[in-house]
Amino acid sequence: MNRDLLRHHPGSTLAYIGLVFLLLTAGMTSLAGTYWLFSLEPRLNADAKTQATVLAQSQSWILADTLLVQDKEQRMTRLAETMDEILVLTDPNTDTPFVNSIHIELDNSLAAPPDRSVITRGKTTCTQCFISTIPLYSKTTRELLGIARFYSSSEFYQQLKSEVRLKFGIGIVAIILFLSAAWWTIRKLLQRITRSVHSQLQIFDTMPFPMFVVSHDLQRIILSNRKTREHFLPAENATEHPLLQLFEDPHDYDVLLRAHHLHHDIDGYECNLRTRNSKPYVALLSSTLVQFPQGNAVILSIVDITLQKQAEAIITKSEERFATVVDSLDDLVYVADMESHRILFMNRPMKALFGNKVGETCWKTVQQGQSGPCSFCSTDAILDAGGQPSGVHVWDFQNESTGEWYTCRDRAITWTNGRTVLLKAASNITELKRVQVELEQAKEAAEAASLAKSIFLATMSHEIRTPMNGIIGMVRLLLRTKPRADQSEYIEAISTSSEQLMLLLNDILDLSKIEAGKLELESQPFELDQLLHDSIVLVQNIAHQKGLRLSYTLASSTPKQLMADTTRLRQILLNLLSNAIKFTQQGHVSLLVAGEKSSATTARIRFTIIDTGVGIPPDMSEQIFDEFTQLDSGVARRYEGTGLGLAICKRLVTAMGGTIWLESPGEQGSTFSFELDLPLAQQVPVHHLLDGEAATAPIRPCRVLLAEDNKINSLVAKSLLEQSGHTVTVAENGAQAITKLESADYDIILMDLHMPEVDGIEATHRIRALADSDKSTIPIIALTADIMHAEREKCLAAGMNGFIAKPFTPEKLETIIAQAINRKASEATLDTSRHAD
Ligand code: ADP
Repeated sequence: MNRDLLRHHPGSTLAYIGLVFLLLTAGMTSLAGTYWLFSLEPRLNADAKTQATVLAQSQSWILADTLLVQDKEQRMTRLAETMDEILVLTDPNTDTPFVNSIHIELDNSLAAPPDRSVITRGKTTCTQCFISTIPLYSKTTRELLGIARFYSSSEFYQQLKSEVRLKFGIGIVAIILFLSAAWWTIRKLLQRITRSVHSQLQIFDTMPFPMFVVSHDLQRIILSNRKTREHFLPAENATEHPLLQLFEDPHDYDVLLRAHHLHHDIDGYECNLRTRNSKPYVALLSSTLVQFPQGNAVILSIVDITLQKQAEAIITKSEERFATVVDSLDDLVYVADMESHRILFMNRPMKALFGNKVGETCWKTVQQGQSGPCSFCSTDAILDAGGQPSGVHVWDFQNESTGEWYTCRDRAITWTNGRTVLLKAASNITELKRVQVELEQAKEAAEAASLAKSIFLATMSHEIRTPMNGIIGMVRLLLRTKPRADQSEYIEAISTSSEQLMLLLNDILDLSKIEAGKLELESQPFELDQLLHDSIVLVQNIAHQKGLRLSYTLASSTPKQLMADTTRLRQILLNLLSNAIKFTQQGHVSLLVAGEKSSATTARIRFTIIDTGVGIPPDMSEQIFDEFTQLDSGVARRYEGTGLGLAICKRLVTAMGGTIWLESPGEQGSTFSFELDLPLAQQVPVHHLLDGEAATAPIRPCRVLLAEDNKINSLVAKSLLEQSGHTVTVAENGAQAITKLESADYDIILMDLHMPEVDGIEATHRIRALADSDKSTIPIIALTADIMHAEREKCLAAGMNGFIAKPFTPEKLETIIAQAINRKASEATLDTSRHAD
């Protein structure tokens, strides 16, 4: 800390004041002594003397009177009575003066009567007396009687003098005491001031930023604090350091000087200062003119903003880099202040497209549909309900003038100035849009092609089934003609091949129907145990032939009266059971069914098919459900199959809202499960499905009217029926069938649906409308290659009693005829679509 300031320190002032007080005390004391000696005491003396003279004067008259008394005795007595103060001779003979307080000397030169000589002339021994010489005149004669010298005692005067001296002394002591007290108070006051100045200096010294006190001409540094010395001044001659040297650029010093001359304070002037270690130092300089007791001075304070400046430089650099990078993008990028709505930054492509709008206010002035940078600068999307920025908003917009498409991403970010800004980046997606449209079109075309393929496949497989039906039927007929052994073998081969081909066709038909979106699921009430029983019955022969144990278990708590498309459900079960039997050489195949209510109206039922067969590798557990996936697909295939069964199962289960999966795959058998949520049925009507019953032999040979336009199919059906002992009349279309029915009696009509002129539906309508009740109630069974749900509905609505899907076996044909005859006129629906096979 600078000692200069301490020179003007209140401590030294204290010494001054102490000295002044001392001198004051000494001066006053000597003044009082002098006053006493030269003024007061002489004056007291004079006063006492005057008093003595006045007294003597008054006594002189009495003395003169007394002296004129002739009688000595009398005279003496009177003198004694009246002149207490007068020196009187008591014995005239001895001439001894009677010394009272006053000695009277009579001048003998004066002519005094002899008897006046009683008054002595001698000298008194009184040393401390005032002597008053007074002429004595006779009162009556005005004659001078003599000169009397009165000796008045100075005792009273001495006493007065000592009293005055005492008071005088007390006064001086009081003054000294008062001066001391004043000095003590001032001293205390000054000490306090000193302490406060000390602490101010300490505060100044420990300020966390550099501070100077410089001379008012800005030439000399008077005082500097520790920070200043740390950074700028050589410690040894801090005060001598000229201020100019502090500045890297003398111009900055000039600025300070100019401001000072204009009596302006400087507040935050940025300049570079020279430090003692030559490190760069950017300062924010402030100056204030202050009046000190010793004169004016300027206080300079410095805030170090070097780091801030460096950070700003880094930010500027990174901003430049950012700008360079963003400029080199093809995307449109701009930044806008969310509060002031001004565009803070635009990249090159943005400027090229919309012109340089930096600094302009953005969306406040935006008109709807206006093209330009503001046409896509709404903040709405990125502000939440509370007006706070939230997330990223991505949207597309079209530049109306160019017609180009952009995808815009809005995001709120914190800008370099700490404010929240809106960053918008838009990429030109015109090309993408075009490709998207093309893709969309291509997709639509592909979907249309796929649909066309599916429809084509469905149609083709459907159409192929008709001749296949003929082939299979004819082969069966051929087998009944007792061919030779070798011929039988060939015919059997044809039969097996055509049945396999039929299976494949059925699968393709199913799959393409599903893909073409033509799968229609029904919902009909059924008994779960009945359905399981029927399914098991259909596969039990094959299982027994292979020596496999086949069982099914239905958990007792499972809801049993349910709603589902039973045909499809049975198809899934039969597919899985058939596979299980097919891929198992020994052991058993089990069907486990369990479930419970999943809500008030539905039950979740799980079907599990377990076998002890060849198993499926774990890595195939998903893939196995794809079309045409077969584990055994090499040239030496051991198992027949299309590779479509599981794919169909999966699609059917999915269409029913369930899931199917392969459980615990491995080499030791397979477990397939599927789970469905099925509605609970209120009441299950008594409905005997044909395929679930044992074949019922017809009670008698029947008269069958066969309405079939396809000659081969008609031949097959006719032959099969005739071989079973029935009489068959063939009609080639619906109209013929009605005519024949009207002209003859028949027990049953087997009606093909698709026939020229009058089709099966129309013919049924007309038959049901016949007046003859025997004829109008005749059982009519539909013959069709495939029964779609809608068609079946139409059949039922037209009044048909059941269905039989082509190709049919003689047994199946027999059974349905028997059922129909037995339940003539019953309303039961006999559904024998091929999926129940
Ligand atoms: P397909 O049985 O007609 O070949 P699927 O789609 O029904 O067609 O089955 C596909 C393949 O999955 C079968 O070829 C077989 O390799 C395998 N697979 C299906 N079920 C089983 C099973 N229970 N055990 C072993 N492998 C099976």
